Amino acid sequence: MNGYAGQILRIDLSARRSEKSPLPDELVRDYIGGRGFAAKLLWDEVPKGAAPFSEANRVIIASGPFSGLFLPASGKITFASKSPATGGYGDSNMGGHLAAELKYAGYDAVIIGGRASAPLVIVIDDDRIEFRDAGKYWGKGALISEKMLKEDLGEDFQIATIGPAGEKLVKFACVSHDFGRQAGRTGIGAVLGWKNVKAIAVRGSKTIPVYDQEKAYAKGRQMYEVCFSKPGFKEWTPEGTAGVTDWVNEVGAFPTRNFSTTYFEGHQDINGSALRTRIKVTDKGCFGCPIPCGKYSRVKFGGKETYVEGPEYETIALLGGDCALTSIEDVAYANYVCDELGLDTISGGNVCAFAIECYEKGILTKERVGRELKWGDLESVSYLLNQIANREGIGDLLAEGVRTASAELGGGSERFAIQVKGLEWSGYEARWAPSMMLSYMTCDVGAHHNRSWAITHDVATGRDSLTGKADKVIELQHTRPLFDALGVCRLQWVEIGFELQHYEQMFPLVTGMPYDWKQLLKVSERIWNLTRAFSLREVPGFGRQLDYPPARFMEEPVPSGPAQGKLLTRDKIDALLDDYYKKRGWNADGVPTREKLHELGLDFVAEELATCGRL
Ligand code: SF4
Repeated sequence: MNGYAGQILRIDLSARRSEKSPLPDELVRDYIGGRGFAAKLLWDEVPKGAAPFSEANRVIIASGPFSGLFLPASGKITFASKSPATGGYGDSNMGGHLAAELKYAGYDAVIIGGRASAPLVIVIDDDRIEFRDAGKYWGKGALISEKMLKEDLGEDFQIATIGPAGEKLVKFACVSHDFGRQAGRTGIGAVLGWKNVKAIAVRGSKTIPVYDQEKAYAKGRQMYEVCFSKPGFKEWTPEGTAGVTDWVNEVGAFPTRNFSTTYFEGHQDINGSALRTRIKVTDKGCFGCPIPCGKYSRVKFGGKETYVEGPEYETIALLGGDCALTSIEDVAYANYVCDELGLDTISGGNVCAFAIECYEKGILTKERVGRELKWGDLESVSYLLNQIANREGIGDLLAEGVRTASAELGGGSERFAIQVKGLEWSGYEARWAPSMMLSYMTCDVGAHHNRSWAITHDVATGRDSLTGKADKVIELQHTRPLFDALGVCRLQWVEIGFELQHYEQMFPLVTGMPYDWKQLLKVSERIWNLTRAFSLREVPGFGRQLDYPPARFMEEPVPSGPAQGKLLTRDKIDALLDDYYKKRGWNADGVPTREKLHELGLDFVAEELATCGRL
C-alpha cells in the first residue's frame, strides 16, 4: 500500500500479547491516516460507555501517509484515547521522530488495549514485540526515563514515556518524547499510566513504498527549496512560536492572571527576544523540519543548572502570563518541572492560575493548600505542579482539572474555571475575537487552539463583527486537522506561507490515490463529524450546552489593556453557535443531522446515535 507501512499492530496488555494485521483499504480510503485512523479505530474499538480508565479503553498511536518521507516536517504522529479529562474523544499530535520510526518498523498504527498486571515498557523493534519490566523507571521523571531507556536499549530507539503525573492518573498528564516533544492534551499520559505502560520504545529498519518514487523525490526536493526561499524562513526559526508573544499581547489576547485580563505588563521579560538572548542554547526540530521551532534552553534554579526544550508560546502564555511569572528563566524552569513530571503545560498553567485566583479570593486557604499562593511566584507554581503530579494535598483535587475542582470548591469559582468540555483553555483570550472564541467553543477535544487558529482572521476582518466568522472557523477546522491526518506539521503553511498546493500535488505521488485538495478536505470533514459523534455517544449532555465558554468570558468585560471593555455577551455567543451549527449541517443542539452524516458516508454513525437517543 503506497505511502503506508501496511500494518496495524494490536497490543493486548492483559494477555501480554501482540498481533499484526494488514491495514484495511477502506480505512485508508476514507480516513487517510493519523487523526483519521485514530478517530475511526476509537469509534470501532471502544465500546459505548467504557470508562477512560478501563481495559476496554484504547490508546491509538497513528502516523499518516507523509510521515517519515522525504518532504518538509514529515514527523507528526497522533495519540488518541477516550479522554479522562473530558470523557469524550481525545487526541493530541506530537512531533519528534516517533512517527517516522514507527513506519520504518512496519506499522501505521498501534492499538493498545487491556491493562498490564505490572508496569512495563512496550518495545517495538521491527517485527519483534517485547514487554519489558518497567520497575526501574516507574516513579521517575519522563525526561530521565527517556534517557535511561536510551542507555538501556540503544540510542537508535525512539521513545515515548510518561512521568509521575501519568502514573498517578492526573487528568492532564501528557506523553513525552525526544526530550521535550509532547502529546500534551486530553490526558493520554494518564490512560497509559492506568494501563501500566511507562514507555513505548520503537526502532525500525524497513522502507516505505511510494507510488511514484522519482516524481515524489523531485517534489520533496522542490518543497524544501520553496520553504528555504520564503521571506519568513530566516525570521521564524530564531524564536519559534515564542516570537508571537508580543503580538498576542498587543492585540489584547494574552492570558493574564487566570484570564482575568488580556494584557501582561511584563511581557518583554518572557517573550521570544528574552528567550533568544538570555536562555537559548540552540534550535531543535522534528524529523525533516526545515524551520525548527524547538528551542533548547539552559536555566538555573536553586543554584542548579538544568536544560529544557522551550518554552514555546503556549507555555509562555499559560505558565508565564496566566500565572504572572515575570522572567523567561522562571517560565523555562516551570516548563522543565512540567516536562519531567509529565504534565501538559497548557492545562498545568491553567490549573495553577485557577488555584492562585481561588487563594486570592479566599476560596482556598493556606491551611488547605499548605502554603501561601502568589501571582508571579515560581515557588507557588512549582509547589502546585509537584502536589498535582503526586496527588498530594490540594494537588489531588487539582489533578482532576479546573472543571471538577471548581465544582467541589464552589464559591463562584466555576465562573473563572477556564475550560470547555473539561479541557483547559490554551493561549488566546477571545473576548475580542469572535472566530477564535468560536474555535475554542467548538473544538472537538475541548478548549484547544490547534484545530482553528482564527485570531489573525479576527484581527484582519473586524473583531466586533460576527459576519463570516463561522465560515472561517469551519474552513480552518477542516484544513488544519488535515495535516494531522497526513502526518506532517502545519507550521510551514501557517508561519512562512508555504502553499497548500504542494501537499495536494504530493499526495497522489506518494499514495497513488487521485484525491485533490477538495476531496482531502471532505475526508477531514468526515473525521470532524465522527469525533463529534464519538463524544455525543459517550458524554451525557454533550452538545450545545457543553459548547459554551466560562461565564467570565460572557459576563466580565476585559478590565485593562488594548481589549479593555470588550466582551462577547451570551446573545452573541448564541448567534455564533447558531450560524456555525447551521453551516455545518447540524441541528440546534449541535448534533449532525442524518442528511449530513449520509453525505459523509457516516450512516453507521447515524444508526448508533439514533440508538443512543441523540438522533
Ligand atoms: Fe516540529 Fe516545529 Fe518543525 Fe513543526 S515547525 S516540525 S513543530 S520543529
